[in-house]
Amino acid sequence: MIAQDPAFAEKRLAMVKEQIERRGIRSPRLLEALRTVPRHCFVPPDQQRWAYADGALRIGQGQTISQPYIVALMTDLLALKGDENVLEVGTGSGYQAAVLAQLAAQVYTIERHAALSQRAAAVLADLGIRNVKFYVGDGTLGLPDHAPYQAILVTAAAPRVPPALLEQLDAGGRLVIPVGDRFRQVLQLWRRRGEQWDHDEIAPVAFVPLVGAQGWETGKD
Ligand code: SAM
Repeated sequence: MIAQDPAFAEKRLAMVKEQIERRGIRSPRLLEALRTVPRHCFVPPDQQRWAYADGALRIGQGQTISQPYIVALMTDLLALKGDENVLEVGTGSGYQAAVLAQLAAQVYTIERHAALSQRAAAVLADLGIRNVKFYVGDGTLGLPDHAPYQAILVTAAAPRVPPALLEQLDAGGRLVIPVGDRFRQVLQLWRRRGEQWDHDEIAPVAFVPLVGAQGWETGKD
């Protein structure tokens, strides 16, 4: 499915072993997805040498591709089995969407910067990944046309969980989102049971802001 570059393949296997498995991620399907998706294709050329390093990287427009372990942790929390409809808020480079695409039936991803969305769509097309649909707009409002979602992943930091996203989550569904202030947040895992929602706090994280009607004000990123 995905074109392999031998120069990076070894680094990718080491990334999974040393950064992901060593920190306790065990899902065989997720580990295989991370071994498969070529992360170096999702970063600007001047960042490629660090594509498999243990940190976030700049992708333009003041935005970032998240640290590999954080991508793994957030994806793991969704507990995907393969038949889900997934919404990602914050397409960024498209890397997280490509990982989700290996693990779920259909992925919808929304990004507020059109340039990032277009570049991500081109990378996934080049890689032959066809079960991701790209949207440009305010993801704090979700994508009601394709709801309900069995899983929702928000990859930017919100002051509180957007009510629109809780509403678009399917019964039994899971939503993962960083919630907190501008500099520090906690990763929250929400579950919907009928008309009840509950959540657990998982780990401290630091994300760029989620800017929109149910996030931070425009001009804050
Ligand atoms: N998932 C991305 C990846 O794999 O590269 C990383 C995302 S980056 C940490 C967060 C992204 O969220 C940025 O690209 C930012 O522009 C986007 N974003 C912020 N607020 C948004 C909103 N209201 N709707 C959609 N995207 C938003």
